[in-house]
Amino acid sequence: MDTRATCLNCMDGRVQLPILTWIKANYPVDFVDVITEAGMDRVLAEQEDISEIIRSVEVSVKLNKSTRFFIVGHYDCRGNPIDDDGHRKQVIEAVKRLRQLYPSQEVLGLWVNNKWQVELVCVPRSDLDV
Ligand SMILES: [Zn+2]
Repeated sequence: MDTRATCLNCMDGRVQLPILTWIKANYPVDFVDVITEAGMDRVLAEQEDISEIIRSVEVSVKLNKSTRFFIVGHYDCRGNPIDDDGHRKQVIEAVKRLRQLYPSQEVLGLWVNNKWQVELVCVPRSDLDV
């Protein structure tokens, strides 16, 4: 069985290759399932009904056996035009939401900066204990 990850990313074409390259370089993943929305970080952090995204996540987890989620926010996001700090907060909220929905998955937050480099956004596990 191949190893899979699930990437919840913006639909912006500028971030696709940097993110896939970073994931492949840092994790032993054969394939990355990609789910996109304009401003995915905001959608996951703030939108109440995310059932259409979850439909894709379920295929990735249940059929493709993905074990790890990457949630991405990025610089100059036109689908979610807020400042970088706001993006990072939304990525953290999105990570927490997905960890609660899928406690057995590893869920990581990523930020693509103004040089199109990928940074890990740290989300303390203890945030879930409150
Ligand atoms: Zn975007």
